[in-house]
Amino acid sequence: MKTVVVTGGGGFIGSHLIEALLEKGEAVICLDNLFTGVKKNISRFLANPRFEFIRHDIVVPILLEAEEIYHLACPASPVHYQNNPIKTLKTSVLGTLNMLGLAKRIQARILLASTSEVYGDPQIHPQPETYCGNVNPVGPRACYDEGKRAAETLMVGYRDYNGVNVAIARIFNTYGPRMVPNDGRVVSNFICQALRGEDLTIYGDGSQTRSFCYVSDMVDGLIRLMESTESGPVNLGNPTEFTIEELARTVLRMIPESNTGLVYGPLPVDDPTQRRPDIALAKRLLDWQPTVPLEQGLEPTIAYFREELGEDQ
Ligand code: NAD
Ligand code: UDP
Ligand code: UDP
Repeated sequence: MKTVVVTGGGGFIGSHLIEALLEKGEAVICLDNLFTGVKKNISRFLANPRFEFIRHDIVVPILLEAEEIYHLACPASPVHYQNNPIKTLKTSVLGTLNMLGLAKRIQARILLASTSEVYGDPQIHPQPETYCGNVNPVGPRACYDEGKRAAETLMVGYRDYNGVNVAIARIFNTYGPRMVPNDGRVVSNFICQALRGEDLTIYGDGSQTRSFCYVSDMVDGLIRLMESTESGPVNLGNPTEFTIEELARTVLRMIPESNTGLVYGPLPVDDPTQRRPDIALAKRLLDWQPTVPLEQGLEPTIAYFREELGEDQ
């Protein structure tokens, strides 16, 4: 049995990751300040003697003992990370610095949940890991994009200068149960709007693209990367690309009782026009590729939101 730290374990991807790690028989310490994470994601594990929760802000140093650190703590949706851009940047930079200092002291392998946002509004399509990106350092997404870029730089710095065993995963848009209804992300917005009988809000003309990965595939990729000896960066995401309008029409088709339509609003500043991962590296190094197609992953996601919204009423 290994002891594994999961920062951000109260959040969407982190709670699915903890579930998989506990199922594998590992002991898990979850660090989370509950900024965007929810207690329900943690309380489901509290009866397990191999699980421990510490309410902690990773901007502050901490002493722990463990063999592995999955470092996911960071607000992830534009609405959440733009809420306090300085705090977002501190979380990525100071938080990652602290987790690297911890990894160095206890000689743990550390995996950073980085993001496709390091590619900004990409001018190369699909995006391979060798592409250096097109990021606006002073735009509204900068606190997140530049924060993650600096976090990646810290990771390779600690690897090359301090011999820390690091891995960088560049995660592309991921969805599934346990997203929060008010995170403003496109999958949660569209499903909640359809379930409430509201029109689906398309920003811009809906021709921008994203590639959506179901959360179980993402967790499998993260664990494979941790269990490898690779340091990456490695793209993890589903390479099947959809326009936002196609996603909206799929959601409407899958929630036929919604009886609603589409409304169009302004496109947010610096919103990437296209995004699709090149996953050749993950296939080769980790023997990994997503297995859950969009409609198959949307089914349990819609069922989850149906229950969540029902509980609110
Ligand atoms: P999430 O918001 O559900 O989870 C993030 C968690 O981090 C939350 O529980 C939050 O409370 C916690 N957190 C934030 N700041 C913290 C701090 N200073 N100290 C301690 N805990 C803190 O987001 P998610 O979708 O689960 O994303 C997890 C990670 O994956 C993030 O690092 C995100 O950048 C990355 N990522 C996610 C996606 C995606 O599509 N979901 C895409 C790319 C990258
Ligand atoms: N750190 C931590 N836990 C540890 C070891 C270090 O939180 O177990 C923090 C430490 O307080 C510092 C950061 O990680 O803020 C970087 O640590 P490192 O030892 O690399 O740098 P230094 O402390 O020498 O600046
Ligand atoms: N989007 C949209 N309507 C919404 C929410 C988002 O059209 O209600 C668009 C958004 O402008 C972007 C895409 O959907 O082009 C994905 O947005 P999200 O916030 O989910 O993720 P990110 O932009 O970080 O990939």
